[in-house]
Amino acid sequence: MAEVLVYVDHVDGAVRKPTLELLTLARRIGEPVAVALGAGAEATAPALAEHGAVKVLTADAPEFADYLVVPKVDALQAAYEAVSPAAVLVPSSAEGKEIAARLAVRIGSGIITDAVDLEAGDEGPVATQSAFAASFTTKSRVSKGTPVITVKPNSAAVEAAPAAGTVEALSVSFGELATGTKVVARTPRESTGRPELTEAAIVVSGGRGVNGAENFSIIEALADSLGAAVGASRAAVDAGWYPHSNQVGQTGKSVSPQLYIASGISGAIQHRAGMQTSKTIVAINKDAEAPIFELVDYGIVGDLFDVVPQLTQEIQSRKG
Ligand SMILES: Cc1cc2nc3c(=O)[nH]c(=O)nc-3n(C[C@H](O)[C@H](O)[C@H](O)COP(=O)(O)OP(=O)(O)OC[C@H]3O[C@@H](n4cnc5c(N)ncnc54)[C@H](O)[C@@H]3O)c2cc1C
Repeated sequence: MAEVLVYVDHVDGAVRKPTLELLTLARRIGEPVAVALGAGAEATAPALAEHGAVKVLTADAPEFADYLVVPKVDALQAAYEAVSPAAVLVPSSAEGKEIAARLAVRIGSGIITDAVDLEAGDEGPVATQSAFAASFTTKSRVSKGTPVITVKPNSAAVEAAPAAGTVEALSVSFGELATGTKVVARTPRESTGRPELTEAAIVVSGGRGVNGAENFSIIEALADSLGAAVGASRAAVDAGWYPHSNQVGQTGKSVSPQLYIASGISGAIQHRAGMQTSKTIVAINKDAEAPIFELVDYGIVGDLFDVVPQLTQEIQSRKG
């Protein structure tokens, strides 16, 4: 069976969920071979094996931490040359897309970014993308070279499928461009304790209807009861009620969680663009005519200040 390279996103050996989703998708096309780089690369092996990696190629070198993406591209290219895979899958983060694009240029292949699904096809893997503010769903395949495909978080359910996960050291030699951009400082973001917005399985968002920064605490309380990330509409962000890093939409982040709860959000096209591919959408809005109700699975017509705290309380009580 053909091998499929999967680029591993991890933090000191802790594999992030989008990589486990990639392994699930990779198994539809062939045998996943994972590529883990940097500090803790070998520690990723048990989780990767548990989710179907037949091999884990690892490399560590100061270059991975001290310089921007090129050393990682050098390593992924080394893995590509060692394995001659049927496809290369990379998580669709900003860094992942840059690594994938550079690899595709180097190996003369076509690239598909931001896929939301992947299936095997007679002439190579077929990727589904959601285009034009999710107004269209397209299916495409790479027609030149080895397909390089980046896949958005939450595009597949993580499935365990234990495999050997044999660790092999990857031999990497860095090109002269590898040290072109040096990392000179790092400032860790203050942790909210909540999941990353673009990776969260559940997102609870608030809009202009929340009516003030102080009221976002009720959105946060609902999010925390569900283990969710908090999102915001641009109106709420522009009003200074919530940080721009939490904005969902065309000029914010795109999310595709299992569950998206919109509170006090009208459903403007630019907001939809960032959340329309969510699996289940729930809206709470006091205006029954609000456009958000056109795309919801469940709609609650009501005042969010009544509904949201009750919902939080009910969820808490069911958790016992
Ligand atoms: C180029 C461009 C890019 C944009 N990018 C984005 C983007 O990335 N993300 C984004 O979100 N927007 C974006 N916008 C803005 C977008 O057009 C809307 O203005 C914005 O999404 C509206 O935010 P909102 O739904 O919170 O506010 P509103 O449209 O004002 O809606 C507020 C809603 O809250 C309801 N409400 C009020 N009080 C309550 C209550 N107590 N209980 C329940 N419901 C209540 C109201 O009925 C209303 O439906 C962009 C616009 C442009 C032009």
